[in-house]
Amino acid sequence: MQTLTILGATGSIGLSTLDVVRQHPDKYQIIALTAHKSVEQMAKLCEEFQPRFVVMVDENAAEQLSQKINKNIIILTGKENLNKVASLPEVTTVMAAIVGAAGLLPTLAAAKNGKRVLLANKESLVMSGQVLINTVKENGATLLPIDSEHNAIFQCLNGQDRKGLERILLTASGGPFRTWKNEDLQRVTPSQACAHPNWSMGRKISVDSATLMNKGLEVIEACWLFDLPPEKVTVVIHPQSIIHSLVEYNDGSLLAQLGNPDMRTPIAYSLAFPQRISSGVKSLNLFEIGRLDFEQPNLQKFPCLRLAFEAMKMGGTATAILNAANEIAVEMFLNEKLSFIEIPNVIEETLSRCKIEEATDLKTVLKADEHAREIAEEFCHDRNN
Ligand code: NAD
Ligand code: MG
Repeated sequence: MQTLTILGATGSIGLSTLDVVRQHPDKYQIIALTAHKSVEQMAKLCEEFQPRFVVMVDENAAEQLSQKINKNIIILTGKENLNKVASLPEVTTVMAAIVGAAGLLPTLAAAKNGKRVLLANKESLVMSGQVLINTVKENGATLLPIDSEHNAIFQCLNGQDRKGLERILLTASGGPFRTWKNEDLQRVTPSQACAHPNWSMGRKISVDSATLMNKGLEVIEACWLFDLPPEKVTVVIHPQSIIHSLVEYNDGSLLAQLGNPDMRTPIAYSLAFPQRISSGVKSLNLFEIGRLDFEQPNLQKFPCLRLAFEAMKMGGTATAILNAANEIAVEMFLNEKLSFIEIPNVIEETLSRCKIEEATDLKTVLKADEHAREIAEEFCHDRNN
């Protein structure tokens, strides 16, 4: 029996994880659930899964939740308690599915305590890949990728000779604006950016998918997870999102993982690894799909992908700065204070204004993150005035 903490339980990944857990009550038990402030959703989850602990980061939300749920469930609040429930001795497995930089410290806490970490929160690797990978190694933790592309690559590398690995190919749908004209991108609204053609996801990652920054973050994530330089990562636009990624070997073989675009597949794979369990995802019908298409990414139209490659090549705190500036820009865009095409400008400008340092300790990373947020906000503010 695996015992679970789900960080970000009310989000898109959290709910998909709970759906897989729901199908295998003999294998998985929920010990702790966390959320920022979605009281109604959390009350429903508590009723169904009866966790021992709940963390609502927002204090008012914790108070409201206490009126609605079974008194046996311990309700905690404040972000420090995310680290606590990620470290509980009775927990074997932690799903890291908080969005953004807020996911870093609890993910690190899980790694420090030797947990099996199912990593959806790609931002923690982008911010501090070196620190997270070292923490995993030093504490005997296990890191299993949930991001569908990385999960696909993990599956294609499994049991193969790493010495024969030539490169990995990350597939990308191209997002909702792949076929739009450059000039039309000026008028993109948040709801258009959040309407992904193939995947249903949280708002932040949906905007990242629309700018192709999501693929940029994934390039960085892949370099850390699979110990590869960015030159060995190729991005392939594949609009159908059926091939989730590929691996190329020196004998000319390309191995790919295919499936319907549904996050319950990588979640079930990582939960059960090295076994396989059912996920509830329907069988892929190749006859219905008929064809698979591939294109080069357009870096002129989507500069965020170029910026991510550049930041990874710069190394050190550059990727933490890229991530922080992106989070600020996306939030401003979602609040209609920044246009879609300005997002890469904020990131490029922030990268050029911040000093890049070695990123081998957490303190340096957190300082770079904080400073980059200030610079990005300042730049947006100047733009608006
Ligand atoms: P989401 O917005 O749907 O859910 C985010 C969750 O985090 C919610 O439970 C929310 O309550 C919690 N949260 C938000 N801000 C928080 C804060 N400051 N402190 C603590 N908790 C907070 O997001 P999502 O789409 O589920 O994505 C989660 C993570 O998984 C992201 O890092 C994303 O990049 C990654 N991911 C998502 C998908 C997907 O299909 N949704 C695929 C691959 C990777
Ligand atoms: Mg992905």
